[in-house]
Amino acid sequence: MKRTPTILDGVVIAGQIKAEVAVEVQALVTRGITPGLAVILVGESPASQIYVRTKVKTCGELGIFSEMITPPESVTTEEMLALVAALNDREDIDGILIQLPLPKHVDTKRLLEAVAPDKDVDGFHPVNVGRLQSGQPGLAPCTPAGILEILRRSELPIAGQNAVVVGRSDIVGKPTAVMLLNASATVTVCHSKTVDLGSFTREADLLVAAIGRAGFVTAEMVKPGATLIDVGINRITDAAEVEEFFPGDPNRAAAFAKRGSVVVGDIHPAAFAVSGAYTPVPGGVGALTIAMLMQNTVVAARLRRGISLGNK
Ligand code: NAP
Repeated sequence: MKRTPTILDGVVIAGQIKAEVAVEVQALVTRGITPGLAVILVGESPASQIYVRTKVKTCGELGIFSEMITPPESVTTEEMLALVAALNDREDIDGILIQLPLPKHVDTKRLLEAVAPDKDVDGFHPVNVGRLQSGQPGLAPCTPAGILEILRRSELPIAGQNAVVVGRSDIVGKPTAVMLLNASATVTVCHSKTVDLGSFTREADLLVAAIGRAGFVTAEMVKPGATLIDVGINRITDAAEVEEFFPGDPNRAAAFAKRGSVVVGDIHPAAFAVSGAYTPVPGGVGALTIAMLMQNTVVAARLRRGISLGNK
């Protein structure tokens, strides 16, 4: 008998995490510590402005102090380095987030490496990459950490599972693979040079797609009953494509009519139907990212002061 797949609701899980973070913040406040996050937003990109505003608003809701710094588009690498250095020195700032992408003339890599590792709430600094790799406490990248939270809180097995990660970016694919390995999955990482991708994905009990191509993983490429984690966020603007991905779906058709685009993940919606459980797009992995940023800010506040993570 065919089982109905479980929808792994990222919005609900994000709500649980945020509620727990708010309690942790209160516990720190009673000890005289208010966690603080500085967000640097360069220029006027409307999409980045929305992301940053949501982050600042969520800080306010959870009792985290936040400060938004908005240098102009013309800011130089040297000026940005000075800004980061000042934030590194500030006692009231536990986390520093540089909203990406930065203008082309700014040296992004140099800047990310200038953030003090203990304030690197994005988890991109090589020191934190190393800590993750060697299983030491530290700050892990938000999207991969969110994936692990979804799996754990949904009580899906990880240890011993055949996990396949498609995509090897430094911000998603690689750290997700390391985290799954640390959680004792048997991990295979695939990428654009992988030969016969389907032969790997069909063996996956747990398949993570972080590719950036709409509906790339098809139903034929997944093992029936597998857990599918779709990280992709792709905007499609072609009516024929909307109909191909979501045939006869009145909600998507209405969304398309209203906005002229809809969002689709890296996994074809038809593949979800054969899965055991899956993260929807939107409302899956993407919903966790800000909650994990908030959690990282609290983790940074504790680690910086030597307060153990287990001791609330
Ligand atoms: P990325 O840096 O562009 O990396 C894409 C990866 O996919 C690369 O490793 C690439 O392989 C691989 N790839 C590309 N074409 C492939 C193919 N035909 N077969 C197999 N592998 C292929 O992207 P990213 O930053 O990891 O993001 C991936 C997706 O996740 C995007 O849609 C992005 O918008 C989304 N995303 C979502 C969140 C969230 O919060 N939900 C956060 C970050 C990103 P090579 O290395 O060989 O080039």
